[in-house]
Amino acid sequence: MDLITRENPARVAEIVGSVPVTDPAAVDAAVRRADDAFRGWSGLPVAERVAALRRGADTVAARLEELAPLLARESGKPLADSRGEIGFAVAFLRWVCDEAPAVLAATEVDDDAGRLVVRRKPYGVVGCVTPWNAPVILAMLKLGPALAAGNTVVLKPSPLAPLTITEVAAALPAVQVIHGGAETGRALAGHPLVRKVAFTGGDAAGREIAATAGAMITPAVLELGGNDPAVFLPDFALSDADYERLVMASFATAGQVCMAAKRLYVPRARTAEFTEAYLAAAERVLVVGDPLAPGVTMGPVISAAAAARIRALVADAAGGTATPLGRSAPGHDPASGYFVTPHLVTGLDDHAPLVAQEQFGPAVPLLAYDTEEEVLVRADAGELGLAASVWSADEERAFALAGRLGAGFVFVNTHNRTGMSLRAPFGGVKRSGYGREYGREGLLEYVQSAVVHVPAAFRPGGPGMAPGAYPGGVHDEPPRSAGSVRPPL
Ligand code: NAD
Repeated sequence: MDLITRENPARVAEIVGSVPVTDPAAVDAAVRRADDAFRGWSGLPVAERVAALRRGADTVAARLEELAPLLARESGKPLADSRGEIGFAVAFLRWVCDEAPAVLAATEVDDDAGRLVVRRKPYGVVGCVTPWNAPVILAMLKLGPALAAGNTVVLKPSPLAPLTITEVAAALPAVQVIHGGAETGRALAGHPLVRKVAFTGGDAAGREIAATAGAMITPAVLELGGNDPAVFLPDFALSDADYERLVMASFATAGQVCMAAKRLYVPRARTAEFTEAYLAAAERVLVVGDPLAPGVTMGPVISAAAAARIRALVADAAGGTATPLGRSAPGHDPASGYFVTPHLVTGLDDHAPLVAQEQFGPAVPLLAYDTEEEVLVRADAGELGLAASVWSADEERAFALAGRLGAGFVFVNTHNRTGMSLRAPFGGVKRSGYGREYGREGLLEYVQSAVVHVPAAFRPGGPGMAPGAYPGGVHDEPPRSAGSVRPPL
């Protein structure tokens, strides 16, 4: 049996663990088992499913101190962040448990127009394919809503961080985890018994997954990359704490976050002041080192290939000035793993690869602008539209510009995880994907509405309707009365 062996990206000589590769025949068997389990799981009352998920959330919460170091060691994410990610996943699952019964409830209307029941039915087997950068929460955003709604799930995590999520998923009912790379993901997304695909990852894999699912007429949720602009309006007033939060908005998880602040647009007249305060804040909060070492806020990147790609992006920043940021933890040896020195890069134009592409690593460009209309156009340039942020002393002004930006989520006076909310739907526009996670919308991704309807015309004693007539025409619509809207079923 082939194994995926995962090394610690901070200490590459150390093997953290391994998982077996699921071959195509075993993928088929897993999907068939999920399909067999669907009738039973979806047939349970939502309250029972939610109770089982709550027990799962409690189990994961009880294991937090054991799981967080495992996540730190396999992903390179600092221990405090790893703890935070798992804790947030538990909070999200509990939020799903609180919200699902009302959001998923059927509705019935019984009035002069007829009787209409709209049920929210699960799809069946949901195939989930997830990345390594936040392997627990990005899987939970799919597992929680899909399972609460009555779907069964087959999950394929990234081979670069497969260990912690396998443990977390084992605490939940109606989930199977399979392992492998693109081939396993393809076998899952294209399986005829998979009724919905949920994918988070990069552009290339996203396009292929969408095509594979599309060939089977399987709907998909695609959460893809971003190249998020952070726009500082001329009146921005940032405290030291704001600058520190801004630095971490770009450099948490070594910049490998879909919604990291990836381009900083600063009014030309205030760039010197901004840069000075930014560098000072980075010196205070950006501490590079082993993810398990106390005080470290930035670990390594995920792989040798990622490190080489990001170093090349900084080295190729022709015409710009790259300033190293932050400091090393005491005793830190950057040669022990895939460490990349974080940089702020100034003086680039918008066509430089570091600006025009998603860097997905610890280097951020600072770009000067002159007018609000100009920055709006420049911030919206490109094919991606995941998140953005607007910073201003005047909240109204910030909201006004935020409403005009082409992004699925705009933060005001913060960016990245500090700006998230369990109730706020998250997802991209343009080529950052489609579908939403979090919020009511994130729950509704995993149900289809199914209707039972009798028009008033055909109820006992009803007037009937001419054969071939359109209902609700101006001449034959029955008189409206208040009717009764029944409480959710
Ligand atoms: P990736 O696209 O390389 O891999 C993601 C997953 O897809 C992995 O499980 C991988 O094994 C699988 N995969 C790869 N090719 C496949 C194929 N052809 N068919 C089926 N499965 C395939 O992404 P990554 O490097 O793990 O993650 C980085 C990307 O994810 C970045 O672009 C980042 O912005 C994006 N991302 C987006 C969000 C979001 O919510 N929008 C969140 C996190 C990361």
